[in-house]
Amino acid sequence: MNIPEIHVWDHGIIQVKISMAYPLRWVNSYVLPSSAGISIIDPGPRNRTTEEEWTKVLKHLDFGFHDVNEIFVTHHHPDHFGLAGWFQSQADCHVYMSQRAFDESQYMWGTHSNINNQLMKWLGQHGLPEALSVQIEQHLFGFLPQVTPIPDITTVADGSFLTMGSLSWLAIESGGHAPGHLSLFQQELGLMMCGDAVLPRISPNISLIPGSDPDPLFTFMNSLHHLNTYKVNQAFPGHRDVFINYHERLDELLNHHEERLERIEKLLHPSPQTGYEICESLFGNRLSIHQMRFAMCEVLAHLQELVRRGHARIILSSLDYRIKYTYEE
Ligand SMILES: [Zn+2]
Ligand SMILES: [Zn+2]
Repeated sequence: MNIPEIHVWDHGIIQVKISMAYPLRWVNSYVLPSSAGISIIDPGPRNRTTEEEWTKVLKHLDFGFHDVNEIFVTHHHPDHFGLAGWFQSQADCHVYMSQRAFDESQYMWGTHSNINNQLMKWLGQHGLPEALSVQIEQHLFGFLPQVTPIPDITTVADGSFLTMGSLSWLAIESGGHAPGHLSLFQQELGLMMCGDAVLPRISPNISLIPGSDPDPLFTFMNSLHHLNTYKVNQAFPGHRDVFINYHERLDELLNHHEERLERIEKLLHPSPQTGYEICESLFGNRLSIHQMRFAMCEVLAHLQELVRRGHARIILSSLDYRIKYTYEE
């Protein structure tokens, strides 16, 4: 295995591309060195490959695990949060994240979590055929090793400042993609550590999940408007490449969701539709179970936003007890 790709940016910011599954292929971790040691933002998912990658990266950069002072986690998804506990066990470092993001990690993977079973039943009610919905449960169990062990965390609140890599960073709550998601803004230089709140080329997944944020698309679009109020010269995303057209990208993402809302609203006109039927109309029926889960939860997030705006209404089909959406005059 080769050493992961590393880019050193101005102000000593080191981008490390940690491997992950197709289609994303890599998650960007950022190493911020100072005379006191290093801080790592979003270490990546845990598996044998990524553990080896980090061992090689630290050696290449001339650091040891004892140099890691803190891990900052933007959000609870396995591809960002996963290795935090492993790093803590190696380096005895702080793990910073928001309380809301940590609560969500426990909701998804804590010892009392029942979300796999819940999500399977819930997607079934939204029309996902049983042959597919039963696969969801197993598919979700597959994430557990990526997020083990769960770290002890130090909570970071929206609006607080952290010093990492000799720079001061403002934590900004930027939810919607994930509850309690935090981005980091360096005001003097106009740098934004986006996490997955703003990505170039790909639209961050927005999922409606039972028991989680009840209006994720609304939260997300509000976050994008809020993130647009910071003057950003260079953006460091959780996936894909570092980019400069940050404000343009925020507009594109907002437009993308408005267009998608319009398209879904039109699909409700001929007759009431389940989330699954909308999903089939938009993406066909050849998605993998992983893609299907994301696609369906994203469609349901859009349908929920249409309901919130008063453009759609939920009805329960008396024939098969499936949840359907109908347009509102
Ligand atoms: Zn994410
Ligand atoms: Zn991600």
